[in-house]
Amino acid sequence: MRFVVDLAMVGRYRPGTDAETVRQRYGLDHVVKLASNEYPLPPADGVLVAVGAALSSINRYPDTHARELRVALAGHYGTDVERVAVGNGSLELLLLLGDALLAPGREAVCPTPSFAFYRKLCDMHGAGVRAVPLRGATVDLEAMAAAVGEATTMVIICNPNNPTGTYVAAREIERFVEHVPDDVLVVIDEAYNEFVTRDDSQETLELAKRCDNVCVTRTFSKIHGLCALRVGYAICSPIIREAIDTLRQPYNVNLIAQVAAVEALRHPDEVDRRRALNAELRDRLCRGLEERGLAVVPSQANFVLADLRPLGLPDDGVCERLESIGAIVRDGAAFGLPGRARISVGTREEIDFLLEKVSTLAAERRG
Ligand code: PMP
Repeated sequence: MRFVVDLAMVGRYRPGTDAETVRQRYGLDHVVKLASNEYPLPPADGVLVAVGAALSSINRYPDTHARELRVALAGHYGTDVERVAVGNGSLELLLLLGDALLAPGREAVCPTPSFAFYRKLCDMHGAGVRAVPLRGATVDLEAMAAAVGEATTMVIICNPNNPTGTYVAAREIERFVEHVPDDVLVVIDEAYNEFVTRDDSQETLELAKRCDNVCVTRTFSKIHGLCALRVGYAICSPIIREAIDTLRQPYNVNLIAQVAAVEALRHPDEVDRRRALNAELRDRLCRGLEERGLAVVPSQANFVLADLRPLGLPDDGVCERLESIGAIVRDGAAFGLPGRARISVGTREEIDFLLEKVSTLAAERRG
């Protein structure tokens, strides 16, 4: 077979281990999964009702232009519907941007450690990747600007950054965009935007409305709790929206996802409530980890990066050990950070369960 790229060179996306597998593997009664940055509670009641009502229409294709959803998003953000693209999760939008802009001989600039999919996106398109190390735990925009070269067609900023949870101010991104050539697309992946409690959290949208080469991607997967339905969106110039629409498959966002997303946008108070609750529980998680002697990177997202090395277990085994007693976290080794773990903000009970398991490991060390 003459594949367009060497498949052996394309990294595999590794989802977090699921709770049922861990339950069976270790014979556990109770398992808590804090490894995939999901929202821990079901969607708002109104969303579930709307989804139920739409089920009887699934014998028909959905609106291929997802017009109602795009109009709702445009209204929500005070922009034009021509500047709104929707996709099968924000991952599909990244894929389509890759189709439009990445190929052999071209390259993307992205941070590292960051969301593993960026590298895969480049690999899939046979493009090069310039991975720019974080400064401390934060995306280094100055170094990223310096890494933009002749072959660069795309830059990806993850804000807040996965897996560190750190946030860069909109003003800094604005300054960065000024230093990037107009024909290089700056993608700002804001999958965790709604969890941010800073005042400037909506300002990058102004940049996306003003600059043809800025594209903000967001998702209904996280704060809205709809990740299984797969629906995300981009706010961008009509040129980029047109490119996405030309390259996507028809009906890329299914009916149930469209209906659920439209309804979710009708509940902004619910989003505010979830943001506040996440901030409160994130503090509880951070405090609990710090009280147990573990350093945590300050986070604006629904996850935190914790340093588990003081527990004194082998760096490559500590997350597995936690898993074996029922607490599933994302092993930092996947991001080149062995001994660290990315831990999602779960419910109060899930957080307390995780903290209890950390205490168990700490006690084993002392004993
Ligand atoms: N971007 C980042 C930074 C993420 O962490 C994730 C989910 N893990 C995504 C995008 C994908 O989100 P979606 O479900 O919208 O495809």
